[in-house]
Amino acid sequence: MGFKVEQVLHMVRGAGETSYATNSRLQEKAIYRTKPILANAIEEVYKELVPEHMVIVDLGCSSGPNTFIVVSQVLNIIVELRRMMEMKKPLEVQFFLNDLPGNDFNYVFQSLHKFKKKVEEETKGELLVPYYVVGVPGSFYGRLFPRASVHFFHSSYSLMWLSQVPKELENEQGVPLNKGNIYWTETTPQVEKAYREQYQKDFLTFLRSRYTELNIGGGMVLTFLGRRKRTPGHGDLCHLYGLLAEALNSMVLEGILLEEKVDTFNLPLYGPFLEDVKSMIHHEGLFNLDRVEIFESSWDPFDDDSQDHSFNFALPNYTKSAKNVADCIRAVLEPLIVHQFGDVILDDLFTRYTHNVSKHLIKEKANHTILVFALKKCI
Ligand code: SAH
Repeated sequence: MGFKVEQVLHMVRGAGETSYATNSRLQEKAIYRTKPILANAIEEVYKELVPEHMVIVDLGCSSGPNTFIVVSQVLNIIVELRRMMEMKKPLEVQFFLNDLPGNDFNYVFQSLHKFKKKVEEETKGELLVPYYVVGVPGSFYGRLFPRASVHFFHSSYSLMWLSQVPKELENEQGVPLNKGNIYWTETTPQVEKAYREQYQKDFLTFLRSRYTELNIGGGMVLTFLGRRKRTPGHGDLCHLYGLLAEALNSMVLEGILLEEKVDTFNLPLYGPFLEDVKSMIHHEGLFNLDRVEIFESSWDPFDDDSQDHSFNFALPNYTKSAKNVADCIRAVLEPLIVHQFGDVILDDLFTRYTHNVSKHLIKEKANHTILVFALKKCI
């Protein structure tokens, strides 16, 4: 089991067919969906501090269009706000884009000039807010910046990643305790507990680090996968990854994979229960919780309707939908899977996974649950 998340985890690099850049529409939709919350939060910080230079950090920026959608949204928000305030005092913005060292920062840096050109064209060269972009490799489960040096943190679809697979998933002799699964399931409460406790440890480290790094008056908006209830709903990560475990197990049965390889593989991520996150924030007392939102987003990134269509006469194309889901998950998990099983199995595994997802979607439409928190540093 013992791999170091920091060294192995990254989204699929570059801009090819299976890359994250090409397959990140699910995450893109969340960035657009949360823009009003981001705008409110930035407005509060800016109006209170009216800084001459503003430091903004995106944590878990990844590589691809989404990285720059965030930068562009923040710039738009700031420019619009200053226009409304008729603000004459000059402002310069410093963006720090953070991710783990394995992230495709080269791709990000190489796309930067294209992005800058686009901004210039869109604003007809009149943006009036000079901005600078820097990459920061490192884990957000620890300090990344000097104390009181940041005005605003943003993070989308990143904080469900853990710093490590919970140690409790193997006993002291190194015997795996989550055999045949790669995440917790409804029938493994002990595994859920191990994941939950790891999540709590990580999230507290995160809050404490950001608290130290934020300026007085600073804030953050955090968006990540979670759950509405303590018990898993139909679209819960339990089911999404249960279907992947099923695909791996079928390959074990056919002798394509070693059973031991599946038994020792667990995903370093966890979708927390909304109320647990809220109570951690309150209990720690470092941040005021200005706003909380929860919304659903279809597993299928190309399905923009989060309603249940059980009674819809125009039946969705389940196979196509399942393929969309599988492409999205592959762009995220491929490096972890290759690390454990090698790259030979990839196409076979994701064909089986597509089949399993399709069977699941026929039964009922499945949505991700997304949690959004707007936090303000307490004085
Ligand atoms: N924000 C982007 C990317 C989401 S993918 C978007 O909305 O599209 C999640 C990203 O979080 C990945 O690039 C992953 O490498 C990064 N990540 C996961 N754990 C991290 C950690 N501990 N520190 C920094 N980045 C992390």
